[in-house]
Amino acid sequence: MRQSSLVVVANRLPLDDNAALDGASEWRRSPGGLASALHAFLPPIPATWVGWAGGVGPAPTLPDIGSLRLRPVPLSVDELREYYEGFANSTLWPLYHDAVQQPVFHRGWWETYRAVNRRFAEAAAEAAEPGAAVWVQDYHLQLVPQMLRELRPDLLIGFFMHVPFPPPELFMQLPRRVELVRGLLGADLIGFQREQAAHNMAQLAEKLIGTPTADDDIEVDGRTVRTAAFPVSIDVAEVRALAARPDVVAQAKQLRRDLGQPKRVLLSVDRLDYTKGIEHRLTAYRELLRDGHVKVRDTVLVQVAVPSRERVESYRDLRDRIEGEVGRINGEFGRVGEPAIHYLNQAFERSELAALYRTADVMVVTPLRDGMNLVAKEFVAAREDGAGALVLSEFAGAAAELEQAFLVNPHDLDGLKETLLRAMEAKPDDLKVRMTAMRKHLAKHDIVAWARDYLTALDHTGRLAETLPGKPRKRR
Ligand code: UDP
Repeated sequence: MRQSSLVVVANRLPLDDNAALDGASEWRRSPGGLASALHAFLPPIPATWVGWAGGVGPAPTLPDIGSLRLRPVPLSVDELREYYEGFANSTLWPLYHDAVQQPVFHRGWWETYRAVNRRFAEAAAEAAEPGAAVWVQDYHLQLVPQMLRELRPDLLIGFFMHVPFPPPELFMQLPRRVELVRGLLGADLIGFQREQAAHNMAQLAEKLIGTPTADDDIEVDGRTVRTAAFPVSIDVAEVRALAARPDVVAQAKQLRRDLGQPKRVLLSVDRLDYTKGIEHRLTAYRELLRDGHVKVRDTVLVQVAVPSRERVESYRDLRDRIEGEVGRINGEFGRVGEPAIHYLNQAFERSELAALYRTADVMVVTPLRDGMNLVAKEFVAAREDGAGALVLSEFAGAAAELEQAFLVNPHDLDGLKETLLRAMEAKPDDLKVRMTAMRKHLAKHDIVAWARDYLTALDHTGRLAETLPGKPRKRR
């Protein structure tokens, strides 16, 4: 077994086994923001990525990607149901997103969650050379830091939570709350998307374990666990380059023609998830049509809703509700050849997304709660022309950084309608000022800057951060 000085552990590997089976070793991204984020800087680094390859049964053999080794962790059908669809996505996911959907507490799932976390911890322990750094990602693997510390006390252990981390009042509902907090406290550094989440963690540790805390640093078992915010970002250069490609520019123009050359194109791109606020958005849009503020011929809404977690019942129900509502709106307000909403329940290639971003006049990102929301950042990065309005929920992590967006509380229906209208009617000069400021922020805070900030905080010697591509930059 070859060992690495940096091991990244995430539920999902960035390459699925189908890609490997037909012999292709090209980078094929798994869906979702986390794989998108990590893919940007890992391949040139001599690291190991431990994760699930997306299938069930024995782990496949996967080729390296550049200098990056892939170490697959197998899951059985039952484990997939109980660890992934169950405890991770039906208990933790809804609870961490403000319980916008009722979390399901099922005692049987816990043992499987623990067993699978142990498997990931053991795989990471095998892959790490003496004194290595292991960087564990996200809510699926919250017990791994503590398990890893027991197996390998020599390691430097980092954890990053990509999703929101809730206030104690919500977290306290979890039947296994003490174990989950203890699991996280195995890390040397726990990173979150927003400052508030770090405060939540410190408060929980104090409340549940009785650990003294100061400035969000937590004292436990004679060690100090640091917590801080590191807002994740995107590969800005990649998105900019994609959006500037002549074929993408041509595709954007063609899309506009295909949509009937409307005055305004509104765009939303989400995984089909109840946290994304798709239903609230559709209600607002229906009322704008009903009140005559929006006319079908002038304005179209393109809603991309990428299929997600379809084996989980609440996701199937949500899809039925959304598709019913889109059908009703189109039935009532559409005309022959002119639907009010272009609804696309499919995943798009990144170049197609870039063309969509370029086509949009108003990008509507209105989750009820979202760790970050990379789509909002990708839209900004794609708008070299300085045009386009971003309507952004206050409850997305991105709102803490993209302050010049049209910020909105998606629960406030009238506020949402009013903000959509303001964004649709904004003057080009105003949009340009906003877009320029947001682009300036993103140019500095891209994904490599995120990784560099995190790894520098984890390893003060700076050795880990040195392996990252691009020039080091002064810390803020
Ligand atoms: N994405 C994609 N194809 C699609 C829709 C989305 O590749 O058809 C990507 C998108 O570019 C972004 C990620 O999926 O990088 C979604 O990340 P986000 O943080 O917005 O949401 P998440 O799905 O992680 O909740």
